[in-house]
Amino acid sequence: MGNWTTTVRRMIPRRQLHKVLNTGRQITGLFYSGNKMECPICGKKARKFMPYGITKRPNAMCPHCFSLERHRLLWLYLKNETGLFEGKPKLLHVAPEQCYMKPLERLLGDNYLTADLDSPLAKIKMNIQAIPFPDGEFDVIFCNHVLEHVDDDRQAMREFYRVMKPGGWGVLLVPINANRTTTYEDPTITDKKGREKAFGQWDHVREYGTDYTDRLREAGFTVETVEYAKAVSPEQQAYYSLGNDTLYIVRK
Ligand SMILES: [Zn+2]
Repeated sequence: MGNWTTTVRRMIPRRQLHKVLNTGRQITGLFYSGNKMECPICGKKARKFMPYGITKRPNAMCPHCFSLERHRLLWLYLKNETGLFEGKPKLLHVAPEQCYMKPLERLLGDNYLTADLDSPLAKIKMNIQAIPFPDGEFDVIFCNHVLEHVDDDRQAMREFYRVMKPGGWGVLLVPINANRTTTYEDPTITDKKGREKAFGQWDHVREYGTDYTDRLREAGFTVETVEYAKAVSPEQQAYYSLGNDTLYIVRK
C-alpha cells in the first residue's frame, strides 16, 4: 500500500482505521471513475488504475480493492483454470492478501479460513512450521510471499503437504531470482542490514533460485509452473492490467 496509508496507520487507532481507509477508498474511487479498465477481483471499473511501486508503475493498483498486477493475474487463473469457484472447496489462506479476502469469503463462506502469524485480520493465529490442523484437512492452500520469511521453509512445505487432502492443490508463490540456479541462504546472517544486503529485503531469510520447485517436490508435491500471462490476449492484459509472474501450482 502507498505511503499515505502507512502514515495514516501510524496516526490512527486500529478500530478507526478501517473507517478512514474505506472513506479514502470511496474518494479515490470517484477520482478514478471511468470504464477503460476493470479489476477482475472486485469487478469494478476505472478510468485508470493507481501508480504504485518504487518506479511508480502506471496502472498498478486498483483504486477500489488495492489489488496489484500479480493479484489480478492469479485471480484470472483461479477463475478460468481451477475448480475454486465450484463446489465450495475448503481453503486455507495464509498471510491473506487483503484484496482476495472479501471475494473469497463471499464465495466460500465458512470453508474459507485465513491464518497468519500475527495479523489481526486473519481468523487463525498460527506458525506454518507447525500447522494446528489434522492431516488432509484442506482442499486448497494459498500461501504467497511468505516462505522467504520462514526459517525452516522445508518444514512449512511438508506441513502444507500434510494438511492438504489427496487430490488437493495450492498456490505457493515466492520471489525468485531467475539468475540463481541454487537458492541462497545463510542462517548466520540475522541482522536487518545484513539480510537486506544478502537476500534483498530486511525480513527475508533467503533468496530463492530456480531450484524452488525442487524443494516443493521434496515435500511431496507435484509442481506445475504456469506462465498465465501468455494465455491472455494483449487486449485483456491491458484492460485488467496484469502482471506476468510465474505461478507455482502444487498438487497432492
Ligand atoms: Zn479491485
